[in-house]
Amino acid sequence: MTAGSEAANSQQVRVIEVGPRDGLQNEQQILPAADKVELVQRLVATGISAVEVTSFVRPDRVPQLADGVAVFPAVQKLPGVRYIALVPNLAGLQAAAEAGVQEIAVFGAASEQFSQSNLGRGIDDSLKMFEPVAAEARLLGMIVRGYVSTVLGCPFSGHVPVGNVVRVVRALDEMGCDEISLGDTIGVGTPHAVNELIAQVETVLAVQRIAVHFHDTYGMGLANSMAAIQAGVRAVDTSIGGLGGCPFAGRNATGNLATEDLVYALAGSEFDTGIDLDGLLQVNSWLAERVGRALPSKVAAALLAKQAGTSDAK
Ligand code: MG
Repeated sequence: MTAGSEAANSQQVRVIEVGPRDGLQNEQQILPAADKVELVQRLVATGISAVEVTSFVRPDRVPQLADGVAVFPAVQKLPGVRYIALVPNLAGLQAAAEAGVQEIAVFGAASEQFSQSNLGRGIDDSLKMFEPVAAEARLLGMIVRGYVSTVLGCPFSGHVPVGNVVRVVRALDEMGCDEISLGDTIGVGTPHAVNELIAQVETVLAVQRIAVHFHDTYGMGLANSMAAIQAGVRAVDTSIGGLGGCPFAGRNATGNLATEDLVYALAGSEFDTGIDLDGLLQVNSWLAERVGRALPSKVAAALLAKQAGTSDAK
């Protein structure tokens, strides 16, 4: 698909690629910093214009991302591309600022029990912790992205009232978050639930500022993202190959919605991602070699098999 000819009627869907942070975070085998840098650059070369590069958390908490201080500055930055880093506190913010980060993400939860388990404090206390981080980031001229996890279900308490989500979204908006990403951390949501979620969140936040972050644990990642897009959402978090997971969602939990799957699903529609699917397949193969296994994306698996099988015929 060439840019331009179909651009007049197309609507842009912004893909936020979270593989290098959210995806790799759940990989046991630690990738060398140079590979992480190359991964980000390869992803951006496919047309991805927003990528979550790393996090600035305590190194002992997330060993895979302990090298964020080295990785972030080493990435060659292209104009117009958002390079995002996850920052939990003021110490992380300072390290991020020194590394040249201009957009951060903070991480809240809509479930009291998940917040206690994952952040070591309840919803209100975690929001209080992020307030000065967001305020300081804005003083530094940074863009702030807010995550809300467990928006469609919690591994501990099960059902999460949509009112909880709305309350956290409102708090993140009030502390100055520019974009707020709604995460179905354990992937239990359905398109029907997504419609209700977006309808409720839209009452407190313009749909242009809503992103969705859906996991594929139950095979609903793509259907749920498409439902959000149909509801007017234009920012979708995905991960190359579907890399990632959630330590709370069970041993075989698959990860984030695969970038390849979303780009494939939107091809030929009125929605344009500006991302080259063949380029993504090349990144997928490259990364699979480095992590030592095939990545979960069904679209990538099918297309790579097809490429291998028909390469002589072409
Ligand atoms: Mg995720």
